[in-house]
Amino acid sequence: MRLSSWSRPSHAVWRIGLAAIGFVGCDTIETPGAEHSNSARPAVLTYEEFRASAYQEPDTGVFIVDGDTLVEDEAGLREIYQDYLEDQQSTSADGLGTKRAPLIVNTVGGADDRWAYIRQRSIPYCVSTTFGSNYNAVVSAMHQAAAAWHQVNVYLQHRSDQDGNCNASNNNVIFDVRPVSGQPYLARAFFPNNTRVNRNVLIDASSFGNIAPYTLPGILRHELGHTIGFRHEHTRPESRACFEDNNWRALTGYDAASVMHYPQCNGTNRGDLNLTASDIGGANSLYGPLGEPGVDTVFYVNNYSDLRAAFGNNWTAARDHWLNYGINEGRRGSADFDAAYYLSIHPDLVAAYGANNYAAAYKHWLPYGLNEGRRSSREFDVRYYLNANPDLKAAYGNNYAAALNHWLSEGLYEGRRASADFDVAYYLSTHADLQAAFGATNYPAALDHWIFYGRAEGRRGAP
Ligand SMILES: [Zn+2]
Repeated sequence: MRLSSWSRPSHAVWRIGLAAIGFVGCDTIETPGAEHSNSARPAVLTYEEFRASAYQEPDTGVFIVDGDTLVEDEAGLREIYQDYLEDQQSTSADGLGTKRAPLIVNTVGGADDRWAYIRQRSIPYCVSTTFGSNYNAVVSAMHQAAAAWHQVNVYLQHRSDQDGNCNASNNNVIFDVRPVSGQPYLARAFFPNNTRVNRNVLIDASSFGNIAPYTLPGILRHELGHTIGFRHEHTRPESRACFEDNNWRALTGYDAASVMHYPQCNGTNRGDLNLTASDIGGANSLYGPLGEPGVDTVFYVNNYSDLRAAFGNNWTAARDHWLNYGINEGRRGSADFDAAYYLSIHPDLVAAYGANNYAAAYKHWLPYGLNEGRRSSREFDVRYYLNANPDLKAAYGNNYAAALNHWLSEGLYEGRRASADFDVAYYLSTHADLQAAFGATNYPAALDHWIFYGRAEGRRGAP
């Protein structure tokens, strides 16, 4: 089956983004160049033709290009057109762009367009109640899509208390999820650098019809990839010409099955839009690996400015630094394990290893101390955590390793209390300056603040 839309009038070109369900599933997909001959190039568009091929949302005035990608204004569109022209001049004779590449992050002014550390672990959103009978389906689909991206070190958090006032001017959330109808896309999103008013995930009514082989969670997995900075995996667009700009940086090897790759653009994905191992690896290289017991490399790098300068995104080297040097220097490698504190409350270990043998303390905690239920930091006490959370006690019993994993992956993000000395929800709710700086539900940032600043400032950490 061919993509029939290449011969459509230009104003319809952009319609085949994620709306092109009917065109998916072809064994062979025609390329723009092949429309004419194996070596012919498509005609180069004038700016007026190029602009006409972009879709301008009537309500917001923003341009939507490449199916579902937002460009905030005319100046932005002109920049993309310049890149398109340059790309046309360098395009190889097969009519395909030369920049087909892997999971790629958007760049602005040469810098990665990503959420900063303080934000990546708490990106609150609302889901408008104006979805009406589709509201529950959207809430569920967003949860599923957010959970997929939580496999990497970002956390998109539903603020259901904002759903009744979920619009583009609600500053209690980072973005809003709202319904639209009659649009040429199934859904569209934004990039981290966009201004609040344009940070929306808009879901067209057509998304609630038959969109097989896609599902609404699949569509949203793709859209949420944009919201954390990822560009389309296919850089050859679904236009007659080779649409592409150069404002991105490659994170992985080319992955035709990426969740960010439209199937109809020579993608190999014929099912729903799911994250591939390459997507997860690429995203991890940008946002850093998930924390593991005792070692949270992203926490480590971002809370010590000398390490941030030295290691940047070299997560493996940073992790090795903690294991080989940082731990001996008494640096905190995570919130859940504090070697100095661990020794200070367990005299038997001091007797065995000495008062400053932090590396030995870590080697004791994993695998022995944790499984014995020993407290491992001022902020995390595994027995307290289980006893304070009856649902976890019922689920895990005395499986302390499972309890720790719950806190690392979910409990902290939910604001659950994990020690007698520190209650993260209390700490954030009683310090207005921290709420203003981080957001009312940014528990990971509040925890870091307490560890590195708040406690030393004499701030109260628990009721
Ligand atoms: Zn997209």
